Amino acid sequence: MSTKHERIHRDEKNQCTLCLAELDSVYADLGLTKQELAILTIPRRVLTVSFPVRLESGGSRVFVGHRVQFSDARGPAKGGIRFHPDMTSGHASDLAFLMDLKCAVVDIPFGGAKGGVVVDASTLSRAELERVTRGYIRAIADFIGPFKDIPAPDVYTDERTMAWILDEYERIRREHSPAVVTGKPPELGGIRARRFSTALGGVHVLEEVMKERGLKAADVRVAIQGFGNVGENAARLMRDRGCCVVAVSDAKGGIHDPTGLDIAVVSSHKKQTGSIMDFPGAKNITNAELLTIPCDVLAPAALSSQLTEQNASDVKASIVLELANAPTTPAADDILFKRGKLVIPDILANAGGVVVSWFEWSQNLSGDLWEESKVLKRLRQIMTAAYADVRRISEGTGRRLRRAALELAVKRILEAERLRGNL
Ligand code: NAD
Repeated sequence: MSTKHERIHRDEKNQCTLCLAELDSVYADLGLTKQELAILTIPRRVLTVSFPVRLESGGSRVFVGHRVQFSDARGPAKGGIRFHPDMTSGHASDLAFLMDLKCAVVDIPFGGAKGGVVVDASTLSRAELERVTRGYIRAIADFIGPFKDIPAPDVYTDERTMAWILDEYERIRREHSPAVVTGKPPELGGIRARRFSTALGGVHVLEEVMKERGLKAADVRVAIQGFGNVGENAARLMRDRGCCVVAVSDAKGGIHDPTGLDIAVVSSHKKQTGSIMDFPGAKNITNAELLTIPCDVLAPAALSSQLTEQNASDVKASIVLELANAPTTPAADDILFKRGKLVIPDILANAGGVVVSWFEWSQNLSGDLWEESKVLKRLRQIMTAAYADVRRISEGTGRRLRRAALELAVKRILEAERLRGNL
């Protein structure tokens, strides 16, 4: 096996994902053996299934689904289920490996998995989507389970999908098994804070950086791209902490107010009008303008490959908080690094979601119900500890945080394999 990480590393827009692209040099720096490389980079299981589903029209259609699991040395595999027309097993494989690394960075006892169905969910009725979900789960039921592989929501799947997954799995097993899936509605054993935990985890890391740099919330101007689950919650949480959120955007464009946006009012405006645009007192801007707006913290929280060779030289923020997966291209990452910008990498910045998924799984297994204060306290502890671990490696080696996070993850996974006698 060559040290080249040969599988294609693609995101949902078919772009190279930066963390995986960077891994080759991490392997080289750590001087990994062939065995170590193989155990780390070859998936444990790559499953492709097909299953027929009856459509409202009376006919039926055969759907294809995938599920990929990576090293489970640290614990059962964990990762989302995506409904997307471009879902391939190669893509699921890359995303599963990223989950493996992400869980190791925050030191939670899971391996990585990812999967999904090749489908444009917007073309199906609710009943058809439910049948697709149940068909997919019947097809992969032998490969998932609370101690094997625990799915979660991802692109175009949500709490409702997770409720169908739970129900189908429990029908097959003929017993209750709430820990088989996370991201469930709170009524079925989910955790309410899961809805904003990705954003909150990122905010906790940012707070640590602000402390180090002696930055007070009131002096920090923030721009956030994306106003969905992650972006809207991040904007609200940062505003609640006293930061000045000067710009936000959604798919239609952005708004800018250098004196600060009232995020609760922006959210109501979006509910009423369907967009954040034309917000009273703010100026409409494009998504491209948002990325280079004067601010201290830029938080991409929408799509991948947003910071590129074309715009990285114009970024004004001194800190980039990668709440989205792979928002920075490798060339942009180099430019930002040379310009002295601090990039807090996705595998650390957006890991809060999977951390709270771990709490949900633990709670379901023990039958306990955690108070929200306990969920929030432990999330903070885990995110700040992970940042401290990454920071220590970064300081010791002079490498950027992304490299340090990858190094930490690779070492943790290999150590677990070693202790099991697999190396
Ligand atoms: P979402 O679908 O809830 O929100 C996405 C937002 O991006 C929406 O506001 C949408 O309008 C906006 N958007 C779409 N196209 C855009 C464009 N061209 N320019 C600017 N904005 C655009 O998704 P989400 O759950 O908030 O996820 C956002 C990102 O965070 C994704 O990269 C996702 O992979 C990553 N992420 C999410 C979680 C989670 O727990 N939800 C966890 C880890 C990583």
